[in-house]
Order: sequence, then C-alpha cells, then structure tokens
Amino acid sequence: MAIKIALAGNPNCGKTTLFNALTGSSQFTGNWPGVTVEKKEGNLKGDKDVTVMDLPGIYSLSPYTPEEVVARNYLIHEQPDVIFNIVDGTNLERNLYLSTQLAELGIPMLIAVNMMDMVEKTGDQIRTDKLSQRFGCEVAEISALKGTGIQKAVQKAVSLAQKHTTISLTHPFSPRVEQAIEETADLLKEDVRNGQKRFFAIKLLERDEKIGTLLHRAPDVSGQIRQLEEAFDDDVESIITNERYAFISSMIDECCIRKRGKETQTVSDRIDRIVTNRWLALPVFAAVMFLVYYVSVSTIGDILTGWTNDTLFGEWIIPGVTGVLQAAGCAAWLTSLIADGIVGGVGAVLGFVPQMLVLFLFLAFLEACGYMARVAFIMDRIFRKFGLSGKSFIPMLIGSGCGVPGIMASRTIENQRDRRMTIMTTTFVPCGAKLPIIGLIAGAFFSNAGWVSWSAYFIGIAAIICSGVILKKTRLFAGDPSPFVMELPAYHLPTAGSVFRSMWERGFSFIKKAGTIILLSTIVLWFLQGFGWVDGRFTMLEPEQLHQSMLAVAGNVLAPVFAPLGWGDWKMAVAAVTGLIAKENVVATFGILFGFAETGELGEEIWSALAASMSGAAAYSFLVFNLLCAPCFAAMGAIKREMNSAKWFWFAIGYQSILAYAVSLCIYQFGAFAATGQFGVGTIAAVLIVAAFVYLLCRPYKENSMAGTSRGQVAGAQSPMRE
Ligand code: GDP
Ligand code: MG
Repeated sequence: MAIKIALAGNPNCGKTTLFNALTGSSQFTGNWPGVTVEKKEGNLKGDKDVTVMDLPGIYSLSPYTPEEVVARNYLIHEQPDVIFNIVDGTNLERNLYLSTQLAELGIPMLIAVNMMDMVEKTGDQIRTDKLSQRFGCEVAEISALKGTGIQKAVQKAVSLAQKHTTISLTHPFSPRVEQAIEETADLLKEDVRNGQKRFFAIKLLERDEKIGTLLHRAPDVSGQIRQLEEAFDDDVESIITNERYAFISSMIDECCIRKRGKETQTVSDRIDRIVTNRWLALPVFAAVMFLVYYVSVSTIGDILTGWTNDTLFGEWIIPGVTGVLQAAGCAAWLTSLIADGIVGGVGAVLGFVPQMLVLFLFLAFLEACGYMARVAFIMDRIFRKFGLSGKSFIPMLIGSGCGVPGIMASRTIENQRDRRMTIMTTTFVPCGAKLPIIGLIAGAFFSNAGWVSWSAYFIGIAAIICSGVILKKTRLFAGDPSPFVMELPAYHLPTAGSVFRSMWERGFSFIKKAGTIILLSTIVLWFLQGFGWVDGRFTMLEPEQLHQSMLAVAGNVLAPVFAPLGWGDWKMAVAAVTGLIAKENVVATFGILFGFAETGELGEEIWSALAASMSGAAAYSFLVFNLLCAPCFAAMGAIKREMNSAKWFWFAIGYQSILAYAVSLCIYQFGAFAATGQFGVGTIAAVLIVAAFVYLLCRPYKENSMAGTSRGQVAGAQSPMRE
C-alpha cells in the first residue's frame, strides 16, 4: 500500500535536512523563511511505496503567508496518511504551537523532537513519554543532522498510517470555547469530513478569510463569535491563541527538565552578546564581509584566478588551441573565432570562477552556521529606522549569489509596497556574476586593494538604504514596514557536505552560463568586432582596423552618453551594454576587445591594456555603474514576473539606471577633480546631483509615516510569534 508522509514544522526545524536524509536527495537547506516555498516530494530510500513530502516551514495554519497557504491546502486537500511533525527540541514552546493546530486536522500524527544532539549538549531533558501522554500522540527523538533515531521514527509513522491511528485529542479549550467549537462544527453538516470538522470550526471562529473558500457554503457563525468575544472581552483569535499557549506551557513545565538556569548563558548567547550588540553589530558585520571579500577576491581567489588566467589559459590553452588549429590548417578566420573569440571571451569569464567559488563557499558557511540570520536581525533594526523591514534583507542576501532567486524570495513580503521596493533594490547587492567585473577592475586598476571589492558590497547596501529612505518619502511607498520575526538558530558547525553543495549549486550555474549564453554572445561579439566596411567594402578586419568594425560604429553612437561618467570609449559602452545579457559578458567583452585585437598578440596582458585606457576614477565609476544599473535580462525577467505589471517593471529599471548614472557621474567628476583639478560642467552637475540627493534624503516624511518608531517586534529565540 502506498503511504504518503507529510513533513511539517516551523522554518529551520530541520525538515529539509530530514527530507534529504530520508530520500537521499539534495534539496537546498537554508536559514531563510521562503527558501522552501514549494513543496517537494521524494520516495523513502529503500521503500518506494512510501512518499515523503517536504512542506514549507510554517508557524501556524493561518493564511498569512504563501507558505502557510501552500502547506495547509496540501494538508486539507491531499490528506496525507500521516503527518510527521518535526519540532525543534531547543525551542519546544514555539514549535508546539503549530503542533496543536496540526493535531486538529484529523490525520494520524507523530511528533519528532529534532536537534536532540543540541538538547543533550545543553544538558536539558525532554520526557518524551510524558509529552506523548499529554499530547495524545506518538513522540520520537531524532537528530536529522546526525541521522540518529530517524529510521525508528519513520517506522512509527508508517505503522500509524497503516493503522489509521488518529490522535486522541487531549487539549480541550476552556468549556465556553469548546461549546462554540462544537456548535460551529454542527453547522458544517455534510460539507466537511468528520475528522476535519474541528479544524474548520476553529478557523471559522477565528474569522479566517480564506477558509470560507474551501467550503461550498460557509455557515454564519457571527453569533458564536459575538458570544465568545463578550465573555472573554477579547477577539476570538487571541482567545484561542492564548489557550493554546497556556496548554503548551503547562505541558512544558511537566515534560522539560532544564539544566541551565535563566542566568547561565549558552555559547550562542555569549556570541550574540557581541555580534548583535547595538554598537558592535555593524562594525563586526563590516569586518566579516571585508574578510570574506578580501580573502576571496584579493588573496586566495586572486592566486587561483591569476593562475587560471595567466598559466592555464594564457600559457596552455590559448597557445595550445591556436597551435592545433594552425597545424590542422584551419582558415585564419576560424582560428581567430575560436582562439580570440570563444576561448578569449569565455576564458576571461571562466578565469574568475575560482574567485566566485571561494566567495560562495564563505557565504554558504556564514549562512549555514547561523550568522546571516543574525545579520538579518541587525539589519532589521537599522532598516526599520528607514521604514524598511528586515524582511527585505533576506532577498538581498540570497541575491548575493544570484539576483533571480533573490528577487523571487521577495514573495514572502506580504506588504505590496515593501515587496515592490525590495524587488527594485535587491539587485544592487553584487551577485556572483558581477564578481568578475569587480575582480577585473580591482586587479587592473587598484593592484587588488581589498577595499575595492568590499566597497562594491557596501555601495550596494548603501544604495538600498538610501533608496529605501528616498522612496519611502514618496506617496507611492509611504507606510509602515511589515513586522519581521525570525528565529535565531543556535550557532552550529555546518556539515562540510551541505556547505560545498550550496557552493557548487550556485557556482555551477555560472559555469553553465559560460557554456551557453556567454559563448553565444562572444561569437556574436567576435563577428561584430572582426568585420566592417573599409573603403565601402564589407570585409574581415586586421587587428589595427578594430575602430572600423561594426561594433565600433555602434559603440561610438552610444559612447557620448557615458562620456560624463569618464568612460566615453566605445569599448566601455559596448561592454556595459553586453553586460545586460549577462554581467559576465562585461569581462568577456574586454577579453575580446583588449586581449587580442588591440595588441595582436595572443595571451597578452589584457589588464595592462585595459589599465592604460582609463583613469582610476573612471574605472571605479564604470564599476559602480555596472553594479547599480539594470541587471541582466534573466533578473529583469524575474522583476517583470514578480512586479506583474509593465508600469512597475519600467519604473524599477528606470530607477536603477538613473541612480547608477547619477552615482557614477558624481564618482568620476569628484574623483577627477580631486586627482587632476579638472573642473567643468560635469563637476557642477555632480554638485547639483548631490544637493538634490541630500534634499530627497532629508525632506520630511509624508503623512501616516513612522520614521524612527520601531514597532518593537523583536526577533529572538524566545519571542512568541504573532500574538
Ligand atoms: P527547514 O527550514 O525546516 O527545512 O530546516 P533545514 O533542514 O534547512 O535546517 C535548518 C538548519 O538546522 C540547518 O543549518 C541544519 O544543518 C540544522 N539542523 C537540522 N537538523 C539538525 C539536528 O538534528 N541537529 C543540529 N545540530 N542541527 C540541525
Ligand atoms: Mg527547508
């Protein structure tokens, strides 16, 4: 008999870890709400008859977030044979809140207390036999990470499913509430299966807007609601929530033996005292990110990338390929296409893959060990001052890998204005594909100073905060930020496997891109730069005729637009435009235009050729422009989908491009003024832009706004959810 097991639990309770262990698959585990919005299905290893479903992490069965809706619709409609409810043993009180609701669905259920390895470390004890008795269902102890107890727990779940053992509910509400539930359940008649009546009745009493749509005919329960609210002098949702928590805490008192008193602190608490300290948090974060970028772009990554570029491609692959092609007697144009175009262009991008992998490795580690969750919490404190929610920070963190999932992660922001603003600003954080640009500029112009790559990251964050402030002051975006609550998981050493997997998942997509879209672009670019009209005749060009190529003609039309930013050369203009196809293309374009065509020598130092073409201020302005301007087509597509409106899509793209242009203009004009005393119309324009910018930042908020007033929803291990 086929059996369906549904894994349900709070975010971060270890569902995906368990799912991977049970099914042998490798779903991404992440610390972020919204990482698992979709449900995932797999077969139990060694028993194809048992399907396991990884539901999104949820705190309750209310319909407040997309995750909650997905999970509860699944549980109601698909009716799995058994619910495998995972609860985080280090955070029982909050986790059991969901359990009390799952228990009402009339489906056999097992509670698996996870993270037992951590619980044991603290010396706490959980009396699972007592818990089982009080709750009225089977309870198992497991550690999804270490794999202990999971087979036994699954066997228990399977046998519950086979026997259809439903829960013997032991947590009745107070008599008045029970009476209202009973009356409501009676009104449901044939519409709802008997086992589910209690769940539907409670949701109806809680005025759950979405539950009515699941019924043919929602009964009128306003009478019951009024009676309850008069009796308790509170709204029904709060009454029921309070009773659930009262039940849970009485159970915890009985079933948990805590070793540590309130005053002793765990290691996590002690680290958090420093890391989330009001004054130290930001400097610590800045230092951590500096280290990450310094190591991945300026030291280890630089050595690896230097080797890949100079030795692997410069000395082996390019001369090797050329030699082979020449020996085979290939036509000159074909040799040029393959060696200069494809190997040169794609190779310039692939050369940065080592840097990218090192960066992804660090980011994956920071995410998995729990530090990034702290950062979201710290940023919430800061963002809130500017009317943004810390929720906006999560898409940005994901966006530091790739903007597309980053933009998609904004779905978890319920408030539409905040969501739009987050979609617009997420891609300011440098994604992996922008790393080659950063690496190239830092290497060619600034002898790899650590501050260059690091500043790219913080310019991104500054752009987000400033945009937040400016946009919040317009009528389009005014309003309170949505409350942000997230759990701070205890710090832990992630498994090497999961960190490497996450690094590889992110890194591989870039390698794939190099083989497809970048490859295609380099072929087109090679053609455009290699052919042109000489004396009215269309012909293949010699390297020194590059300025007559089709690409040069087109680039020259565009170049004046960028002249005020310091890089009015057609090659830079072309690079910025090809960057829209994929950001790595900027580097591929340089590889083609500076690497060979210019010097005519294969494998020549592209960096020195590039360095000779621009001043430092212009190069930095070019870098910043590419960081902030409209993202690549894939990310634009994601913006279009998530905005779901042409008007808002263009608003976002326009805003990004104008901001990028303005900031780059100021950087170049002030930089040139400081370096050479160059003063002109551009300098005046830059001063005016700064003045306008300061005005937009400092003008008063529109009505109904709340700058500076924190709603005080504190994220923390012990804070209860949505009460
Ligand atoms: P999900 O959000 O419920 O899917 O949770 P994940 O599977 O993504 O796990 C969240 C974090 O908890 C990950 O960093 C896991 O490595 C960690 N984790 C999961 N199970 C255990 C466990 O049994 N013990 C410990 N120490 N950590 C765990
Ligand atoms: Mg998950």
